Amino acid sequence: MATGGKVDVFEHIFRTELDHRGSWKNATRTILIYTVNKSSWTKIQNVYLKHAEETLIKQLEKEYLMKIEKIRINVDVYINNSPCAECADRLHAFLENYPEVQMYIYFANLYNIRRNSCIKNMTTKDEEHVWRVSNFKSIKNSMGLVMLLDHNRCTLQPFNKQTWVNLLDLLKDNRIDFNQMYQEICGDRSREEEDAYLREDLEIIKKEGIAMKIGMYMMVYALLFQTFL
Ligand SMILES: [Zn+2]
Repeated sequence: MATGGKVDVFEHIFRTELDHRGSWKNATRTILIYTVNKSSWTKIQNVYLKHAEETLIKQLEKEYLMKIEKIRINVDVYINNSPCAECADRLHAFLENYPEVQMYIYFANLYNIRRNSCIKNMTTKDEEHVWRVSNFKSIKNSMGLVMLLDHNRCTLQPFNKQTWVNLLDLLKDNRIDFNQMYQEICGDRSREEEDAYLREDLEIIKKEGIAMKIGMYMMVYALLFQTFL
């Protein structure tokens, strides 16, 4: 069932970290919209000590997966923040528990991650916000995303123009200024540019994740090799 609420859901997700040096206001409130087999949408928000993804899992289990018939279900999730490490773990475990679920997650912001695009900008622009996230937390959250990306029933990607349009359609939100809104510069970038940055940043996270795994295996082999010499 569709639920309303005072927040303009589309605006909230669309504007998250768009003016990304400006404020963390939108990122502090996670909002997600989900559909099951393209049904009507449901909105979930994070509440104190409970991330939106936790509620999503509970609702899916209760409403769809506890039912007698095990049918294949496609879950589309539109969310402003990418899942944190703990939620990535939860989502991964959930997918393992329910082989009938295929999940598509579209996000508008890399949550608590030191983004490569920001670090690259640092010489010419103020990107102080990068240091607000500890290196430990950034790596942990990145590894969580790498794990989800590895799952063959999970698609995780930043929004693109089509997925924004899909979200608008879903919400029956027919704002006529969408094309302009998508290209309009807010701070130093438009949503279109930000989505492209996010795609690049996610690629780097993937590559670093693979490198880290190879590094770990090599370390284990080196240790074993030394032991057996
Ligand atoms: Zn979380």
